[in-house]
Amino acid sequence: MADPKGFLTTDREVARTRPVAERVRDWNEVYVPGSLLPIVTKQASRCMDCGIPFCHNGCPLGNLIPEWNDYAYRDDWQAAGERLHATNNFPEFTGRLCPAPCESACVLGINQQPVTIKNVEVTIIDKAWEAGDVTPQPPERLSGKTVAVIGSGPAGLAAAQQLTRAGHTVAVYERADRIGGLLRYGIPEFKMEKRHINRRIEQMRAEGTKFRTEVEIGRDIDAAKLRKRYDAVVIAAGATTSRDLPVPGRELAGIHFAMEYLPLANKVQEGDLTVSPISAEGKHVVVIGGGDTGADCVGTAHRQGAASVTQLEIMPRPGEQRNEGQPWPTFPMLYKVTSAHEEGGERIYSVSTTHFEGDEDGNVQWLHLVEVEFTGGKLTQKPGTERRIPAQLVTLAMGFTGTDRQNGLVEQFGLELDERGNIARDADYATNVPGVFVAGDAGRGQSLIVWAIAEGRSAARGVDRHLTGTSTLPAPVRPTDRALSV
Ligand SMILES: Cc1cc2nc3c(=O)[nH]c(=O)nc-3n(C[C@H](O)[C@H](O)[C@H](O)COP(=O)(O)OP(=O)(O)OC[C@H]3O[C@@H](n4cnc5c(N)ncnc54)[C@H](O)[C@@H]3O)c2cc1C
Ligand code: SF4
Repeated sequence: MADPKGFLTTDREVARTRPVAERVRDWNEVYVPGSLLPIVTKQASRCMDCGIPFCHNGCPLGNLIPEWNDYAYRDDWQAAGERLHATNNFPEFTGRLCPAPCESACVLGINQQPVTIKNVEVTIIDKAWEAGDVTPQPPERLSGKTVAVIGSGPAGLAAAQQLTRAGHTVAVYERADRIGGLLRYGIPEFKMEKRHINRRIEQMRAEGTKFRTEVEIGRDIDAAKLRKRYDAVVIAAGATTSRDLPVPGRELAGIHFAMEYLPLANKVQEGDLTVSPISAEGKHVVVIGGGDTGADCVGTAHRQGAASVTQLEIMPRPGEQRNEGQPWPTFPMLYKVTSAHEEGGERIYSVSTTHFEGDEDGNVQWLHLVEVEFTGGKLTQKPGTERRIPAQLVTLAMGFTGTDRQNGLVEQFGLELDERGNIARDADYATNVPGVFVAGDAGRGQSLIVWAIAEGRSAARGVDRHLTGTSTLPAPVRPTDRALSV
């Protein structure tokens, strides 16, 4: 156990962010570099090692949180790093990007501020990289079996790393020009600098994983050919079909899906473009959708020099405290102020977009909205509340409806879908097609990085068992798990 009195003597303190005026002028991560180091040991000491660590269940990966808190408190960073990697292939992603459902389940959180688990996690892994402790772990012997992984997001990468280390020969196919999935082209640089992905890819290459970019399965290689070439296939193609807003004026120029807007900003940061062809500079920007994708659009628009940024949400503003329906240790829906929201802009809740209005050149100029309320379990418009707000760039960030159906992947493999339109799988992550497995958002629906990694690890075990009859690989989650988590 860390300091038995730590939680009594030390208050919760989190990573410091850089001043807004400074950080909106660049794209680097918003945190003050090195700000965690002086505080993290004391923060780790707040862990009570409470006996039944609910944080384990809160974390889909089952991260061994009290164990690495103890090592961090004792300054044994190498041991902390080993315990962290025992359950998580990519803690540098989750330590930066996870909404930390573990902290909502922390026992200390019943009547105090929870342990800063995510900050401890990111410090352990950053120190491990710095110390040269993160090295390639190639398999001792090869199985002679081959696996194709479709998609290089966190689910595909986790599955590929587990299967490569188990001795199988793994190739990851990615339709984009770079590896990383939404980590690369969805999530902006200011939330996670892409050097963290590049470093992992190098480790994976050195372990033997092969990467094939700009190859779309279904289009460039058909399913039958892939199936013939490999002993097993893991589909980790994400849930990248954006939900549309079919209201009058949707066809006007200047209205884009968030996933048309964000990747271009990331491509500027990668050095592929000098300016984004869809830029917020000097424009009144409206982001439709109050979630994380919307917040990423807000932060991107600030950095591009928007004249104003407004984020719309159809649901009412969440509360700042847990309500009765979301008791500890569940993950509550609370009002969140992300780093992008700290930087400015306005958030409007309980409104619905009725239509867009453009100028004579067909460019969007105004967004018309109306206030809404839930009455009798139904969303109804409040008469007399219609108004319009200036909108010269609109991004649609209203969620995703499932895996991409344009490229024929689902039909060519003959995959069954579940009732939510995701690729159906059994408890081993196997689809209805023998030897074809599915992991991450493609099977779960749009979710979180931590779930994608957990599913990638679990699917790898299913594949390993399919190929060899047995497996020692861990399976942290089942496809139906929601547990305490989001
Ligand atoms: C803008 C945005 C911000 C987000 N922010 C966060 C966050 O802060 N924290 C968090 O936990 N989660 C966040 N999420 C959710 C998280 O990114 C996803 O849940 C996670 O990336 C899913 O991982 P995945 O591997 O299943 O799929 P993805 O990351 O979507 O990767 C799928 C990959 O498959 C490729 N692909 C698809 N079809 C084919 C094909 N036929 N052939 C070859 N390649 C193909 C795609 O190009 C893509 O690269 C965010 C999502 C978005 C959109
Ligand atoms: S991965 Fe997420 S849920 Fe798990 S320990 Fe890290 S921050 Fe918590």
